[in-house]
Amino acid sequence: MKNPDVPGGRDDLLARIYTPLSNISMEISERRNNKALMKKVEDFFGPWKFDAITGEPRAVLSRSIATPNLELSYFLSLSNGLGMTPLILEYPDKFVAKNPDKYHLCKLFFVRKVEGGNPIVIDTLKLVNFNADEGKALLDIKTTNGENIVDFHHYLLGKQFPYLSDKVINFSDWFNNTRVLSRYYYLYFLSLFICHGVLFENYLIGDKEESSFFKEKFLPSFEEAERIFGVKPIIYSLLPFRYATRIRWYSYPESLKKYIAGSNHNNKLPTSINHFPELKIKDTGKYGMGVYANENIKKGTVIRVLDGEIISFNECIKRIKAGEEEQTDSLQVGLESDMDLDGLSRTFNHSCDPSAGLRKTSELIALRNIKIGEEITYDYSATVGPNIPQSLWEMECMCGSKKCRRTLGNILSVPKKQLEKYMRCGALQDYIKAELKIIQQLNGKLPKYRKISL
Ligand SMILES: [Zn+2]
Repeated sequence: MKNPDVPGGRDDLLARIYTPLSNISMEISERRNNKALMKKVEDFFGPWKFDAITGEPRAVLSRSIATPNLELSYFLSLSNGLGMTPLILEYPDKFVAKNPDKYHLCKLFFVRKVEGGNPIVIDTLKLVNFNADEGKALLDIKTTNGENIVDFHHYLLGKQFPYLSDKVINFSDWFNNTRVLSRYYYLYFLSLFICHGVLFENYLIGDKEESSFFKEKFLPSFEEAERIFGVKPIIYSLLPFRYATRIRWYSYPESLKKYIAGSNHNNKLPTSINHFPELKIKDTGKYGMGVYANENIKKGTVIRVLDGEIISFNECIKRIKAGEEEQTDSLQVGLESDMDLDGLSRTFNHSCDPSAGLRKTSELIALRNIKIGEEITYDYSATVGPNIPQSLWEMECMCGSKKCRRTLGNILSVPKKQLEKYMRCGALQDYIKAELKIIQQLNGKLPKYRKISL
């Protein structure tokens, strides 16, 4: 997808910012042998020399709080591959639930590895009171058991990677002091990566909010550093671009749960771990694979949170046209956005008389008591927005239920009684509820939607 604001588009921009992994070691050693460049960097920092990184070259990850999630493990394996000592720079500022990095520090997702597939979320653990703690400094936030949230993550980190204890540094003071020295916010920070190491980071320049941060703060600082030193800061794109926003990188291996429930921990243990019911994937014998309950599930239970990469409508259409995915591989999550579902999430089948439904963005809940061995299905039509005409999305149904509608369309094609049932059970996504409300206010007329065509 070309970004209209960037000449040459996204791929050119990525190539300009990132340094390929295979070039990093050589590039750093060449630069460190360049006495004039080393002197220039030293003079530039002057009294703001950052001691932690002036010795051997370092592989650096900068996060609010160091925590042993899958992203950190991946970062460690890459720095290990480069033969570089890792360094984690922490900047624990305010808690904002909207920021995914911080959100996942306060609500942990535990995943289980699946042979040949994406890891699946098996448990979640909410650590703080999201409403009360919004806007507070992370350093002041306590878990529901009264432990400081930073201490909590450092405890987990120490359990998983004991050798990292002296490789985590809170650099807030240094950063706050240096960011005001130049009108380029990140100039000093990025200059650390001229010859002292490599920064591992993901700049999500496809994301709207992130993209304005990128253009207004990051890019000018990057270009200024390049202008001053004649070479660009060394940055490696940490996660494969397509997967950068996926929650799995913020997740924790299932094995870490034992430390939270362990008896060595000084403080009282969090006890609010949610347990998702056990599921089984098998052949339906009618229409490919399906997902089945492997235990009895009570009405109202959250069965799973469907997961995937959130993409724009245009990107979704592009992927379908390019044959990269099927129309049923994605889930609409907003008027103009879709979720490119992961393996398990796309295995749930449709039924016109479903056992489950979706709420919020993609939470799958039981509409009734589901017995062990029953298939878990939801009504695909209930997830397709009123802005998607029949010409764009239509599906032949073979669900075989008495209520089968044969041909499926968008949310407006769901029979009134059925729709009322979903409403009563709270089984409609937020964006669908919002659109239905607008249509109701217009006495059944549709608002003017952007015309979408394949
Ligand atoms: Zn049907």
